[in-house]
Amino acid sequence: MNRMPDTHDRWGHRSGDHLSLLARRRPHASDSHSQSNGTLPFGSAIGYSRAMEQSTSPGSTTIEGRCLCGAVRFRLSPPTDFVAHCHCSSCRLSHGAAFVTWTSVPAERFAFETGEATVGWYRSSKWVAWGFCRTCGSSMLYRALEAGHHESPKLDRIYVTAGSLVSPLDRAPAAHVSYEEHLPWVRVPDGLPKHRGKTDETLPE
Ligand SMILES: [Zn+2]
Ligand SMILES: [Zn+2]
Repeated sequence: MNRMPDTHDRWGHRSGDHLSLLARRRPHASDSHSQSNGTLPFGSAIGYSRAMEQSTSPGSTTIEGRCLCGAVRFRLSPPTDFVAHCHCSSCRLSHGAAFVTWTSVPAERFAFETGEATVGWYRSSKWVAWGFCRTCGSSMLYRALEAGHHESPKLDRIYVTAGSLVSPLDRAPAAHVSYEEHLPWVRVPDGLPKHRGKTDETLPE
């Protein structure tokens, strides 16, 4: 797999990358919840316990999502890789939203329950595609088509908008990324780090 030798990993999955950097930044890495999934300690920093308590299906390890009309339904199995808010113009324009909250899982832990054929994939470049419901227009998914995108989304992951989920996530959002592109009227005083692009560099509020 071709890897950009960059610091712009869009979603931050590689070792030494954005996620790891975030993990180092979070102050509560010893939280017992983080040890339960054995992966990303930063996910426990804020709200993780609350998210778990809100689970409507105790014991279930499936997170479900859907489009507005319900033609497309899917599920994913935690642990998720991360949860972060993206302020880049592509996300904003694709979703018609001020920013978009993303998570991801390895592709083998994502499955459509129904409506896969209803999903359209808009290829904004040869590298990436955005998945949406052809019936109602909900934007839900994102995936890499080939290596080389400047933000290096991973080919073996499927990226899912947290707003499309109807089950609680297994972790709380941990960061804002591409914050330099945020809309001027957006204020997010949530205390989470705000990054330039998907780099380690943080920006002021
Ligand atoms: Zn739909
Ligand atoms: Zn984005």
